[in-house]
Amino acid sequence: MIQEYKGNNREARLSRVWQVLGFPERDIPLTRGGTVTPLHPGFLNRGKGPDFKNAVLQFNDDPPVTTDVEIDWTDREWRLHGHDSDSEFDSVGLRVVWDCKGTETFELNQAEPPLIRLRPFLEGPEWNWAMGLEPETTWTHPKAIRFAGKCRKVWNRMSVSEIRRALERIALVRLWNKGDGIRIRAQRLGWDQAFWESLISVLGFQKNYWPFRRLAELGSLWIQHDSDHSSVLARLSGLAGLLPNVTTKDDVESSRYLQEIWSYWWREQHYFQEFILPDSMWRRDQIRPLNFPERRLALAAFWACSGALTERVWYWANQVPGADQRSQKKWRRQLYDLLSGSARHDFWSHRANWRRRLNQPAGLMGQGLFNEIVVNAILPWIWAREYAEERAHRLIEIEQIYLNWPATPDNSRLRNLNWRLMGNKMQIRKMKAGAVQGLLGVSRFYCEKFNSLCEGCPMPDRLSREKYIH
Ligand code: SF4
Repeated sequence: MIQEYKGNNREARLSRVWQVLGFPERDIPLTRGGTVTPLHPGFLNRGKGPDFKNAVLQFNDDPPVTTDVEIDWTDREWRLHGHDSDSEFDSVGLRVVWDCKGTETFELNQAEPPLIRLRPFLEGPEWNWAMGLEPETTWTHPKAIRFAGKCRKVWNRMSVSEIRRALERIALVRLWNKGDGIRIRAQRLGWDQAFWESLISVLGFQKNYWPFRRLAELGSLWIQHDSDHSSVLARLSGLAGLLPNVTTKDDVESSRYLQEIWSYWWREQHYFQEFILPDSMWRRDQIRPLNFPERRLALAAFWACSGALTERVWYWANQVPGADQRSQKKWRRQLYDLLSGSARHDFWSHRANWRRRLNQPAGLMGQGLFNEIVVNAILPWIWAREYAEERAHRLIEIEQIYLNWPATPDNSRLRNLNWRLMGNKMQIRKMKAGAVQGLLGVSRFYCEKFNSLCEGCPMPDRLSREKYIH
C-alpha cells in the first residue's frame, strides 16, 4: 500500500509518519554503522531548507544533539535535489528515507549526513495506517501527544480567562520591548524616521524583515510627500533591486507600466547605485502571491506620497473614541482609511508582481495586514511617543487598545504553538491581538531558547507560581 503513493505525496506522508511517531524505535541502525534514537522529531518546516527543524537525536550512546532532519523517499534525492551543494541544508544531521535504491548506494559518502531507512519498520499491514495519516489529524494524533510542550499540563489547569490574562501579560512585555526600541531610534533620528522604520519593517514580516528594514533606513531617499505614486515606486523598487530589466511582449499592460516606471528610474539609478539591495537579500519561498514584496512596495509608495502620514496618525491616536463598540469601530475604520484610502491601483489591484497576475482582484492592504501593521508598528510607536512625553494615563489606554485590537491569527505557526502549549484549548479564531501576541511572546522568550524537549525551560514553574492560577 505504501508504494501506491506517488512523488511528493508519498514524501509528505513519510514526513507525517516521522512527525507523529518520531520515531518509536530505539537504536535505529544507520546505514553507515552505529545507531540513532530520535527523542523529538523536530518541527515541520514549510519554508526553504530541511523538512524538520530542531529535532533532538541521540547517536549511539552520545549525549543528545539538536539538529535538522531531511525526509526523502530514497537516498538518491539528496543529490538529485541538489541538497549536497545547498548551504541551507548544512544543518541537516540526519536523513530519513523510505529505502535506499540498490545495495551499492549503501556505500555512502562519509561527508554526507547519516541516513536511516524506515522501510523495515513500516512495512506490513499494521503500519498502513501510518502512511494514511492526513495533515489535519497529524498533531492531534494520540501518539503525537508526547511531543507537547512541558508547560501544557499547567496551561490546561487554567481556565480560558486565566490563560488569556497570562498571555496578555506576556503580550505587554512585547509591546514595551518594541516601544523601547522605537523610542531609542526616535531619540537619535526623530519621531518621523522612527515611525517609518517601524511601519516599513512590518511589511517584510519574518522572511523579508531585513530588506524592508534597510529600505526604511533609506527613507530619506524615497519618502517624498510632493511626488506621485509612480515616481516614488520607481525609486523604491529600484533601490530594492526588484525592477525587471526586460519587458515581455505578451504582457502589454505590464510592459507599459514598467516603461513608465523605468522612465523615472533610468535617470537616477546611477546616483543610487551604492544603495541598491542585492537580489540575495530577498526571500520568495512560501510567500502567498498576495504578499509578494513588489505589492508591499507599491503600498509603501502610496504611504510615502500621501503627505504627512506620521502627523495624521498621531492626530488620529489622540482622537480618543467613546467606550461603546460603535465609536471604537468607527475610530479603527478611520485609521484603516488613512492607511489604505488611496491604495487602489489599476495595475496592483490584480497583480502579484510585474509578471504574475492574481487569481482575483485584491486591494494592497487587506484587513489581516492592517491588523498586523497596527499591532506591530502603529501602536508601539504611539506607546513610545506617549512614554517619551510622560503621559502615564495614555499608556494605559494604548495598552488596552493593543490587547483588544482585532486579530486575524490564521497561520500555521500560531496553530502549532496553540497545539504545543495548550492542546488547542483556546480557539485561535476567537483570539484578540493580546492573546496572539502573548503566544508569540512565549515562543520568542521561551520556546526559541530551549530545545524541543523543553529541557531547562522555566515556563512551567513560572506559570505554576503565578497567583492567577490558584
Ligand atoms: S519550551 Fe517552555 S514554553 Fe515552550 S513548550 Fe516547552 S515548556 Fe512550554
